[in-house]
Amino acid sequence: MSIKENLMHVKQNIADAAARIGKKAEDITLVMATKTVDAERIREAVRNGGHIIGENKIQEALKKYEVLKDEDAAWHFIGHLQTNKVKDVLKFADLIHSVDRLSLVEKLDQRLLKEGRSTDILIQVNTSYEESKYGVAPEEAISLVKETSRYDTLRIRGLMTIGLFTNDEVKIRKCFKLLKDIHDSVIKEGIDRVEMQYLSMGMSGDYQIAIEEGASMVRVGTAIFGARNTPDAYYWPSEKVERK
Ligand SMILES: *Cc1c(COP(=O)(O)O)cnc(C)c1O
Repeated sequence: MSIKENLMHVKQNIADAAARIGKKAEDITLVMATKTVDAERIREAVRNGGHIIGENKIQEALKKYEVLKDEDAAWHFIGHLQTNKVKDVLKFADLIHSVDRLSLVEKLDQRLLKEGRSTDILIQVNTSYEESKYGVAPEEAISLVKETSRYDTLRIRGLMTIGLFTNDEVKIRKCFKLLKDIHDSVIKEGIDRVEMQYLSMGMSGDYQIAIEEGASMVRVGTAIFGARNTPDAYYWPSEKVERK
């Protein structure tokens, strides 16, 4: 199947899942997870209906951005963000999905103040409680949202999570339901400057489930570009080296 056909298929699945809960296809934003995909294949996807590029690694993203920056696409950063990469992520990212700790918020703020601008972010929550996944603990998510909301340089636009990797649909749904609950609680709190527009959850294996549970943004790679050669462990290191 071509990238174009895969995209059409994914979009149809998105529309179908949305319809099941009384939403429209347009209510769901598709982010293409493009790690390991070369620039020319990403270009093909952009020209065939994929309008958001989601990258995981800063160096890889910057290289592709150099080649593709004139294409009609927005750029999201969906990988783990190290504090020493803050300057580089701001060179290309329109939305950062992975803000998960105050030390990172502070570093982003410092850099944005220097540049005299602001940026859009999502707060990443570790809904699966797995050690190997990044994200703030669910119990600490609302307080991180509140603390982050005090920084004028950062606009919180929603929440992000990576669901549990399992075939057990009940367990997957539990992660997504948890993120939706936190999302609803944040709205209830009515925190100044915080907008809960995006609930970024769901990947190739579970995006339809995620939509049924309230996702308004899904991140899909394999179902568009085919299987990757590089193991995801390279992108999701199991050691939280920075977090002590
Ligand atoms: C790779 C990746 C995805 C997409 O994964 P697929 O299973 O290939 O669809 C989504 N989100 C993040 C954070 C990723 O790293």
